[in-house]
Amino acid sequence: MSIEHLINGQFQAGGTRQVAVFNPSTGATLCQLTLADSATVQLAIDAATAAFPAWRNTPPAKRTQVLFRFKQLLERNQERIAQLISLEHGKTLEDALGELKRGIENVEYACAAPELLKGEYSRNAGPAIDCWSDFQPLGVVAGITPFNFPAMVPLWMYPLAIACGNCFILKPSERDPSSTLLIAQLFNEAGLPKGVLNVVHGDKEAVDTLIQAPEVRALSFVGSTPVAEYIYAEGTKRGKRVQALGGAKNHAVVMPDADLDNAVNALMGAAFGSCGERCMAISVAVCVGDQVANALVQRLLPQIAALKIGPGTSAGLDMGPLVTAAHQAKVSGYVAAGVAEGAELLADGRGLQVPGHEQGFFLGGCLFDRVTPQMSIYTDEIFGPVLCVMRVDSLEQGIALINAHEYGNGTCIFTRDGESARVFADQIEVGMVGINVALPVPVAYHSFGGWKRSLFGDLHAYGPDGVRFYTRRKAITQRWPKGSSREATQFAFPSL
Ligand code: NAD
Repeated sequence: MSIEHLINGQFQAGGTRQVAVFNPSTGATLCQLTLADSATVQLAIDAATAAFPAWRNTPPAKRTQVLFRFKQLLERNQERIAQLISLEHGKTLEDALGELKRGIENVEYACAAPELLKGEYSRNAGPAIDCWSDFQPLGVVAGITPFNFPAMVPLWMYPLAIACGNCFILKPSERDPSSTLLIAQLFNEAGLPKGVLNVVHGDKEAVDTLIQAPEVRALSFVGSTPVAEYIYAEGTKRGKRVQALGGAKNHAVVMPDADLDNAVNALMGAAFGSCGERCMAISVAVCVGDQVANALVQRLLPQIAALKIGPGTSAGLDMGPLVTAAHQAKVSGYVAAGVAEGAELLADGRGLQVPGHEQGFFLGGCLFDRVTPQMSIYTDEIFGPVLCVMRVDSLEQGIALINAHEYGNGTCIFTRDGESARVFADQIEVGMVGINVALPVPVAYHSFGGWKRSLFGDLHAYGPDGVRFYTRRKAITQRWPKGSSREATQFAFPSL
């Protein structure tokens, strides 16, 4: 099987360097992916540039009609898409369907383009003078996306960008490109004019070409913090608009008054769902008091032991494998480091064997207790099925701990006390906060973004911030001089 680029409405080859795409459940190579060279990326930029004038002038309601058909095609093909996600990423089919549904929400939001782009109007801003603000598209914009949500994260970006009148180049993750490509193909089948959405597979060379191209006006990035920081610095240096979402270390505070059974169930899903490969995964449980910590650990351990782990494409599982052998080795390395640093490893998922899938990249659930702030298992994003328990004496201590961490993507508090929840939501330096909700990923009509080193840029992804990101404002002031509304010469600055 070969996977090609989608440029100007057609599949085509381009580039010479190749990387393998794996089935993480078996370790087998599924295909070789050819990485786009600069010349191939330039073809996509040229196609998007050529498509822009007509797409910019297509009425938003017409653009929306394509989006409606796209949504229908996504729903009709959801099983096929979920299979592809699961095959290359390793997450379970239910999880893959869940991410696709959250992606479709963003298509639905983009269907409101005629309403979202209405602008603002003031009649009689001055004598016989009207003023309005227009939201105009930027032109050619690009998105660079991570492996962990091959359907949802690209859908955060291009449906809204395109609904706003832009043309788009997507550079998806090279580790699981097939579902992303199929979804883009469905958008074309829905009637998108050629060149409005292009997909190039690639790595740093492709990304650098997008950064350096003067035609590309804006970059949306989601991935790890070092790459986010690089793309933000290099993109903004060249005058581009950039939103670069990075890594995370998400804490859940468990208060002494929390409904512990609810907290344990929620934590299991948030820590181990998708094998911990979610930017909103909870990787630290901050327990207020030893009693809560001891009770939490006692309830987590049997649930971790009972995790159903196997190939994501099989039904009824809780967790699949990690995405690659290299990532499996990295996460296992952190588990070893945690032991060496003195944390108590209460559940050790290393060495897990799934019968019939001995070469798969599996790792069972891991639980550390008595983790301290200096340990690398606390400071670093592990991005695997590893939950750390930390112990503090008060909510204030918990808030101070979380606020001192370099990342600020998501967080959560488990409590029955409204005042604790209110103080936490107010004082925590994190962009997305859950109150008895472990994965507070905002719905499509609220924007998504972290604080601190989890996001570089001013505007969050999708929702109202997405509209702002993919448009630029133009303020127009008009007068139609006739009779008394004709202008008298005036040298003072115009004012009422
Ligand atoms: P990654 O940073 O390795 O890759 C992301 C994208 O950047 C890919 O398309 C990749 O090809 C490209 N890339 C990689 N190295 C590059 C380089 N040196 N120069 C230019 N481009 C480069 O991330 P990943 O491993 O695919 O995804 C996991 C990371 O993404 C985690 O850190 C996770 O927290 C983060 N993430 C964040 C969010 C969020 O919303 N904040 C959402 C999902 C994932």
